[in-house]
Amino acid sequence: MQKMLIWGTHMAFGMWIGRTVLSVFFVAGYLTYYDSAFYQRLRTERGNWQKRGLNTAIRIGIMLGVAIGLQWAAVSVQQGGDMYVNLLLFVISYALLDEGTSIVEYLFNWAVMSFFWFINHPFDEHLFILVAVIFALTSVILRRFQTTVHYHLAWYMLFAITVATLFWITYVDVPLRSLFGYPLIFALMSGYSFSYIHRMRSVVAERDSLTAELNHDALTQAFSLTRLNTNGVEIFEDCKQVSGQLAVAVMDIDHFKSFNDDYGHAAGDAVLIGLTKILQAELKVAPAELYRTGGEELTILMPDFDMDSAMALVRNCWNAVRTVPVAYQDNHFRCSVSVGVAFLEQKDTALSDLLKRADNSMYLSKQHGRDRITVDGQADLLNNSHSAMINFTYYTQPIMRLADSHLVANEMRLERYANGQWGRAENYAVTTDTMMSLIRSIFHQLEVPSLSMNFEVDELATTRIRESLLAYLHANAQVELLIEMTHITNPEIFAAVAPSFRKAGVRFVIDDAQTPGLFAEFAPVIQFFDTVKVSLPSKRDVSADAELLANLSYWQHVCAVHHLELALNNIESDADMRLVDRFGVIYGQGNFFSRPVLPRIL
Ligand code: GH3
Ligand code: MG
Ligand code: MG
Repeated sequence: MQKMLIWGTHMAFGMWIGRTVLSVFFVAGYLTYYDSAFYQRLRTERGNWQKRGLNTAIRIGIMLGVAIGLQWAAVSVQQGGDMYVNLLLFVISYALLDEGTSIVEYLFNWAVMSFFWFINHPFDEHLFILVAVIFALTSVILRRFQTTVHYHLAWYMLFAITVATLFWITYVDVPLRSLFGYPLIFALMSGYSFSYIHRMRSVVAERDSLTAELNHDALTQAFSLTRLNTNGVEIFEDCKQVSGQLAVAVMDIDHFKSFNDDYGHAAGDAVLIGLTKILQAELKVAPAELYRTGGEELTILMPDFDMDSAMALVRNCWNAVRTVPVAYQDNHFRCSVSVGVAFLEQKDTALSDLLKRADNSMYLSKQHGRDRITVDGQADLLNNSHSAMINFTYYTQPIMRLADSHLVANEMRLERYANGQWGRAENYAVTTDTMMSLIRSIFHQLEVPSLSMNFEVDELATTRIRESLLAYLHANAQVELLIEMTHITNPEIFAAVAPSFRKAGVRFVIDDAQTPGLFAEFAPVIQFFDTVKVSLPSKRDVSADAELLANLSYWQHVCAVHHLELALNNIESDADMRLVDRFGVIYGQGNFFSRPVLPRIL
C-alpha cells in the first residue's frame, strides 16, 4: 500500500515531466511557424488593403484553427486534456503580445482569449464580471507596453505567470497539482519561448544590418547596384501597374579620369562623396532615390513622377552639381555631369529597358560636349528630340508697348548651334509633345504670361497640334498666346481653323511684313488678324532705307484701313526708335530692349 502510494506520486510526477517536455517542444514548433517565411509573407505591409486584409484573415484563421484543434483534443481525451488547454492558452496569449497587429486585430485576439476563457470555466456571475474587468484593464495596459512585455524577460515572465495562474486557479474541477503544475509548465514554456525570440531577434538584427550594408554603397552611402536590382525592380513593377509613370536619370561625371590624374584618387573619392551629398540634398524634398551604379556613375529613380516634375528635379540636380563646390583639404572642386533621362513607356517590360534608354541618352550628352541633359521621350512621337535638345535652345524676347514701355508679351525664339555659333533656327523639327512641354515650361517662367510664337497654316490645321494648344489654353485661362504667321499657304484651311483659336483668345500677327506684296496673301483672311509686324533689315544703306520707309508707310495704311496695330521688330538704336513715332508703331521688340544670353557650348 505504502509502495503503491509512492509509485502513484512518482507516476504523477512522471506525467508532469512528460507533459512539460511535450509542451516545451510544442512551443519550439509553434514559434518556428512564427519564424517561417510563410508567416513573414503574411506579415508584409506591401500590397493594397484587400491583400493586407486577406493576410490578416489568414493569420487569425491559422491561430484560431490551432486553438480550436487543441480545445477539441482537450475534450476528446479522457485523461490529460488539461495539457492541451495549457497549450491553447499559450497560443492565444502569445498572439496578444504581437506588437505588429492593428488595434482591430489586437481586440479580436482579446475576444478570442475571452471566449476560450469562458468555455473552460464554470459560469459564475461574480467571477465573470471580475475576469471581464481584469481583461479590459490588462488589454489597455498591455497594448501600451506591448514591446516592453514582449522583449524583456522580467515583464514577459510576469505576464505569463499572471495569465497562467489566473487561468488555472479558476479552472473547472482543478485538481490540486494542476494548480501549481500547469502554471509551472506555462512558465517553462514561456521561458523557452523568450530565449527563442531573443535569439531570433539578434539573428534578424544581424541580417538587417547586413542587408543595409548590401543596399548601400560603402564609399558614398548612396543606394547600391544590388538595391537597384531588387528594390528598383519592385519600384518599376509598382509604377508600371499603378501610376504608369517612372522617370530615371543616369549621370556620369565628366572627365573624371583626368581629375583623378591631376589631383589624386583620394581627391576623386572626396568629390564622389561630396557630389552624392549635393544630389541627396536636392532629392530630399522629392520621393526619388539615388543609386551609385558604377564608378562615377549615379542613377536617380523617380517613381510616379510626370515629365515636368522629373525634368525640374533633374535640372536642379544637374545645376547643383555644377554650381556647388566640394571641399577637399584646401581646395574647392566643381565638376559637371552628363545626364540621360528616360521615361517609362508602355512597351518597357523591365527596368533595364528604361535604364538602357537613359544610358544611351547619357552617351549622347557626352558626345555632344558633356555637361548637359539629354531627354528620351516617347520614341514614336519624338523624331528629332535628341538633337533638338542638344543643338537648339530657345529664349524669349520681350515685346514692349511703346507708349508706356510696358512689357506686354514675349516672343519665343529658337536658336540653332551650328559651325561654332548660335543663329536663328529657320526650321526645326520638334514634335507636338516637345513643343507643348516647351510652351508649358516657358509660360511657367514668364512674369507676363503672354507668349508669341510662329506657326504655319499646316501646323495649325494638324489636329494633334490644334487640340493640344486649345486644351492648354482652356486649362490655363491666365495665359495668352499670340500666333505669328509669315505666310498664308492655304487661306481656306486657315479660315476654317482660325475661329477656334480666336475663340480661345489667340491673337494673330502678320509676321515679317518685309514688302507690300505680302498683303495679297493675307487679304482673304485679314479679319482674323490684329497686328502687323515689320522687321527692320539688319544691314541698311540708303536704298534699303528708302525701301523700308515705303514699306512702313504701306503697312501703316493697311493698319488704318483694317484696324490693325503696327509692330516693329529688330529695333537696335535710337535712330530706329524715331521710326516708331513717325509711323505710329504700337509694339516694339529687339536688342534695344534686351539681349539674350545664350548657353556656352564646350
Ligand atoms: P567622361 O565620362 O567624361 O567621358 O570621362 P571620364 O574620364 O569620366 O571617363 P570614364 O567614365 O571612362 O572614366 C571613369 C573614371 O572614373 C575612371 C576612374 O579613374 C574614375 N573612377 C571610377 N570609380 C572611382 C572611384 O571610386 N574613385 C575615384 N577616385 N575615381 C573613380
Ligand atoms: Mg565619366
Ligand atoms: Mg564612366
